[in-house]
Amino acid sequence: MNVTEILSKLVSFDVLGGQSNLSIAQWIEDYLSSLDIEFNNLPNEDGSKRCIFCRIGPPVDGGLVLSGHTDVVPVKGQPWNTDPFVLTDGGDGNLYARGSCDMKGFLASCLVAAPEMVKAKLKKPIYFAFSFDEEIGCLMGTPLAEKIMSFYDEKPNFAIIGEPSMMQPIIGHKGIVIYKTTVNGSAGHSSRIRNEVSAIHEASRIILWLENKMNQLIEKGQLDNRFEPPHTSIHCGLFEKSGIAPNVISDSASFYWDIRVIPKDKSSVIKQEFDEYCNALIKINAEKFPDFDIQTVEHHPDVPPLDTPDDLEIVALIRELTGVTKLGSVSYAAEAGQFSNAGFQTVICGPGDIAQAHRANEFISKAQLMEGEEMIRRLVKKFE
Ligand SMILES: [Zn+2]
Repeated sequence: MNVTEILSKLVSFDVLGGQSNLSIAQWIEDYLSSLDIEFNNLPNEDGSKRCIFCRIGPPVDGGLVLSGHTDVVPVKGQPWNTDPFVLTDGGDGNLYARGSCDMKGFLASCLVAAPEMVKAKLKKPIYFAFSFDEEIGCLMGTPLAEKIMSFYDEKPNFAIIGEPSMMQPIIGHKGIVIYKTTVNGSAGHSSRIRNEVSAIHEASRIILWLENKMNQLIEKGQLDNRFEPPHTSIHCGLFEKSGIAPNVISDSASFYWDIRVIPKDKSSVIKQEFDEYCNALIKINAEKFPDFDIQTVEHHPDVPPLDTPDDLEIVALIRELTGVTKLGSVSYAAEAGQFSNAGFQTVICGPGDIAQAHRANEFISKAQLMEGEEMIRRLVKKFE
């Protein structure tokens, strides 16, 4: 099979983030089996999804992991001109389908080179690590990276996460975490606002605290010009229906907020200061209303940022494999920070443009797909 044939197959599995990925996992496993490549799985609890990982080459230290996710984002409500789950040649040099760019193009580049990896006398091993549920919060990045570290006796050294980067090496990305905060106030006639505790009023105070916190970080000079914007952003994007009538004090309010950290800030530190502020508010308001409470739960797991120093070996290697020396950073989060935290020297580099991801008529250019394939072939040569 050539790379386009493999990509056609991969995009035909309409596995969205959160859904069972057994169909695509099975196909990839059959493909690996046909090449006599032994693979292993990291399943979820009920066995409805599984990560696939394997090693090709000798069990020695210093290998490299090629990693990507098997899930895609939904197509519902998007104005597609073609069937999103059928790879369609647009006649314009581009191949259209959901996931063609994010990121089954990279998976196809890896898989098409697998027969060569098997045949080559690799001195260092190449690993595949394919995850699920990336699109709903990078849920398997950490467990998969840690699994590979502990599963094999030897110690792999490098990881390339093939998110679409137009084959530019990316050494930094922001982190993300999303919380849901619920405030519990006391109901009453709106004229009694000085005697009761309005959940909406207290929630608003908390949201303003979040904005002030972001501004404080900027004023303190916590900036990183590799990113746009160059600071950690803190933002409330969804205030749920709160209150029951204009003239009734609201007894409940809830909202979602996110922190997108630059590498030099820590979301856990910001969260701790947030908790301290909320605890102070609880103390003050409990005098009026003893049951006053503020609860905050994680809505999207804390995905760490990526900050790979440019003098690491992986950076020299990826420059050699791509021929691209200019390094980049991105403001979206990916599994790269998780692999880095698990001990891999990690970069993002893959075919396709992130600008085409997650939207109608997603595509990958044939030229990019070929470059992705070329990069993997050069890796095989390099490790031979
Ligand atoms: Zn992706």
